[in-house]
Amino acid sequence: MTDIATAFYTPLLWTGESDEVLRDVTLICEQGMLVEITAGRSPNATDLGNAAIIPPLVNAHCHLEFSQLKQPFVTNRPFPKWIGETMRTRRENQDVSAAIRAGIEESARVSVGFLADVKTQPVGCYPQTGDNQPEVILFQEVIGLTDEAVTNQKEQISAFVQESGSSRFGLSPHAPFTVRPDLLEHCVQLSQDMGIPLMMHLAETKAELELLTEGTGELVDMLSQFGMWSADMYPSGTRPLDLLKVLSHAPRVLLAHGNYLDEQEIQFLAEHPQMHIVYCPRTHHYFGHTQHPWQSMLEAGVNVAIGTDGRGSNPDLSIWNEVRFLKQQFPDVEPRRLLEMATINGAKSLGMETTIQIGRPANWTLLVLRNSEAKLMTSLQDLCQAEVLTTGPWI
Ligand SMILES: [Zn+2]
Repeated sequence: MTDIATAFYTPLLWTGESDEVLRDVTLICEQGMLVEITAGRSPNATDLGNAAIIPPLVNAHCHLEFSQLKQPFVTNRPFPKWIGETMRTRRENQDVSAAIRAGIEESARVSVGFLADVKTQPVGCYPQTGDNQPEVILFQEVIGLTDEAVTNQKEQISAFVQESGSSRFGLSPHAPFTVRPDLLEHCVQLSQDMGIPLMMHLAETKAELELLTEGTGELVDMLSQFGMWSADMYPSGTRPLDLLKVLSHAPRVLLAHGNYLDEQEIQFLAEHPQMHIVYCPRTHHYFGHTQHPWQSMLEAGVNVAIGTDGRGSNPDLSIWNEVRFLKQQFPDVEPRRLLEMATINGAKSLGMETTIQIGRPANWTLLVLRNSEAKLMTSLQDLCQAEVLTTGPWI
């Protein structure tokens, strides 16, 4: 954006604030801020063509380091085997910076405005993102089951916190089966002290529930093989709810997946609005899990965002493709709910408010529609069903 006022004419605008679709409007921006929305096409406005403007698409859970993969791993189960594939890929990747750059460029092409990434690599592997590229919010991955690993991780966390300075960032204690409870407590404490968010994979697989409750199953077998399982890590009968209680002391928490959270746990989330679910629809489908409770979560009042996860389980990093997938799988769902999950709910999980309003930054996603469709659209239902030729670049 320049200092000079810039105007954009669009046949369709959804601000994210209601069910209403505004037709034939001009958005006037000054110094990167939206200053006016006027009816009709203003003289000198740039015509965006057959396009719709919506709040920025948000990818609330990703692993950019796997973005060089052309397709998801052939092996999707058992889960420990899939984890083995990710570890092998990480080991064999000669140029992780290129993979991360490819993921950011892909995300820019599909008009993602904000992206939350689980960071396992040095900050130097991430390029500076420019105009029309997503803001990448790094969540330092934390994994530690042994005394040595826990000590080492605490040092790494301190170094990351210092180098992150004033940028938006967080910590990602990986999952219940890779983070010892005292290390999780440490992350929660730091999160409280510094006012930073946490992201954790939780209730992702049935094997994880079995590990917590019984101390048995394929994940226990995997950890035992590496000599990292300790039978007293969790008392018998531990549930995701017990971890939710620990995490609820953090000021903001993104829970990746939550595939197997039960009614009581969903109710707990509803009572703790600082806790957000990041549902990854196509990744969920890839693993063949039983139906995800996202609709019950929304009904209970839980904020549900959308993520892609990494390309080890998803064919691309497009959030719009997640919306289209959900629309096909759940044709009766209110379209506004899907659009909210893909945009403003994701922003909320990252501590931001991104509805399109006068006086706010002029950040939005542009959906380029198939010829002549934009003129015919009157509802969000139409928009959700539209064939989008391309998304972006986001303005
Ligand atoms: Zn993940």
